[in-house]
Amino acid sequence: MERTLCIIKPDGVEKGYIGAIISRIEKEGFKILGLKRARLTKEMAEHFYDIHRERPFFNDLVSYMTRGPVVLIALEHENAVSHWRTVIGATNPENADVGTIRKLYGNNIEENVVHGSDSAENGKLEIGVFFSEAELISQQ
Ligand code: UDP
Ligand code: MG
Repeated sequence: MERTLCIIKPDGVEKGYIGAIISRIEKEGFKILGLKRARLTKEMAEHFYDIHRERPFFNDLVSYMTRGPVVLIALEHENAVSHWRTVIGATNPENADVGTIRKLYGNNIEENVVHGSDSAENGKLEIGVFFSEAELISQQ
């Protein structure tokens, strides 16, 4: 079983999509290991997106991710990383497939509603940033 981190980003929370996204997670058969609402600090967002530090959109991305609460969801499924990325769609909602979360609810390439980890290794690491082992419940 693989793990991936879903973040419902500030725009998703602001626009009232928490329920729709959790509902979709359940329909897609993911197990929710952990779930919490949080407010990312500038330091947390910079660390989380460290790989993009040199990109021109980095500062805007950090402002966006810290402007309001997010929802952090630790997910488990077979091939969780690729399955979740298929459900959320391409980074730019304009290029995302019909029916994906980013196509349905995203505004633009920055405000795209949800995060998904990009590898199994990063899925584990990212979940570890926000959840202790004791907070991850495997039992159905
Ligand atoms: N992003 C942005 N401008 C870009 C590319 C990405 O603002 O040109 C933001 C967007 O919110 C995206 C995040 O930075 O989800 C991380 O980018 P990445 O390329 O890792 O996309 P993802 O893995 O989220 O699809
Ligand atoms: Mg990424």
